[in-house]
Amino acid sequence: MELDDHAEELASTLGVDKAEVKADLEKLVNYSVPIDEAKDSLRRKYGDGGGGGEPAAKSIADVSTTDGAVAVRGVVLTVGKRSIRYQGDDLVIREGEIADESGTISYTAWEEFALSPGDTVEIVGAGVREWEGSPELNLGSETTVEVDDDPLDVPYDIGGDTHLSALAPGDRGVALDVRVAEVERKTIDGRDGETEILSGVFADDTGRLPFTDWDPHGEIEEGASAEIANAYVREFRGVPSVNVSEFSTVNALDRVVETGDGAPRMSVHEAVATEGLFDVEVAGNVLAVRDGSGLIQRCPECGRVVQKGQCRSHGDVDGEDDLRVKAIVDDGTDSLTAVLGTDLTADVYGGRIEAAREAARDAMDQEVVADDIRETIAGREFRVRGTLSVDDYGANLEATNFAACDDDPADRARGLLDAADGAAADGGMIDGASSDETVEDGVSEPRRGAE
Ligand SMILES: [Zn+2]
Repeated sequence: MELDDHAEELASTLGVDKAEVKADLEKLVNYSVPIDEAKDSLRRKYGDGGGGGEPAAKSIADVSTTDGAVAVRGVVLTVGKRSIRYQGDDLVIREGEIADESGTISYTAWEEFALSPGDTVEIVGAGVREWEGSPELNLGSETTVEVDDDPLDVPYDIGGDTHLSALAPGDRGVALDVRVAEVERKTIDGRDGETEILSGVFADDTGRLPFTDWDPHGEIEEGASAEIANAYVREFRGVPSVNVSEFSTVNALDRVVETGDGAPRMSVHEAVATEGLFDVEVAGNVLAVRDGSGLIQRCPECGRVVQKGQCRSHGDVDGEDDLRVKAIVDDGTDSLTAVLGTDLTADVYGGRIEAAREAARDAMDQEVVADDIRETIAGREFRVRGTLSVDDYGANLEATNFAACDDDPADRARGLLDAADGAAADGGMIDGASSDETVEDGVSEPRRGAE
């Protein structure tokens, strides 16, 4: 549009003299004010009388949860589609993010609006509520959405393309290229009775995350590379989990998605500060082996550790023998509890459950197993890889690998400083992948290893 056309349009919507508007516009543009900003400032100067009682457009960064209805103008970055149960009905909603020059905001649309990624839209009469700690726009029956032919240029990616390490609970409409590292089909008791789902682990070159596919897609099979669009992210057991639904599109890729082999290596302090990581590696000294390690008994019903034959949920039970280590690992920055399951514990102990049982019988005390483990690992340095969860009771690292550090501490310090060096720690690790203590499923089984 030429300046003259802009002046014409403004003059007619503002109901003022075109020559006057054009003179003002020319002045602003000569001062290098972008045309859109120049028009906005003239709208403010002459007063946008056309809107009647409409709320004024706000910068997205200025939208706050104390606002009533707001109007914003922005570019639709993502549009995710999801079915939710609301007051007993299944409802299809759309959700995603909108951006202007000032920032981004998430939205939920309760009705169908003209929203497609890349479009510049004017939204009038959107409600604001708090969601995941930030303001969110709610688009409903009181809201109008109009596509604006005058596109807004925003410094954000359109379409939701992202990677695993960038995902956070609450993200929606995300698009990913992943390799299916693990997948398992299971039957759950869903809101509509028994349903089949897939759960497992996705990987890309930035990391690994658990996923659940609520509407099993054939393209999601072990080892396959796939392109997934319109997925959303929820927190599951303290880490982000990718959710694939009936509205997601999954396409097999004919190329192989690269994945890193190492987990990101962090100091204990850094790791704990994230409040939860699906796959991380730390290295530190085992300061102590905690009570509840060695030969233990679990409830056959729920897998919880039983004490003196008593399960917290099931009372008097005939506990089943198992092996476990809970080791306090400290690297000088902070400490956490590394939890080793059956197989990793057997490797550390140097014998399986039968051997432990025999040792306990001979000594007439099952504590001898924990004592033996304590002698082996306390005071030594180990690299521990696994899933970190952090709660009020502390930080637990469910180990998938546990290996003695034989590297030079100075080298390791350099490695820690070099964030790119995450793949350096692989050789010599004990593989704990077959242990049922490692990361599990998506759904509602009680966590084995919990007390
Ligand atoms: Zn139980």
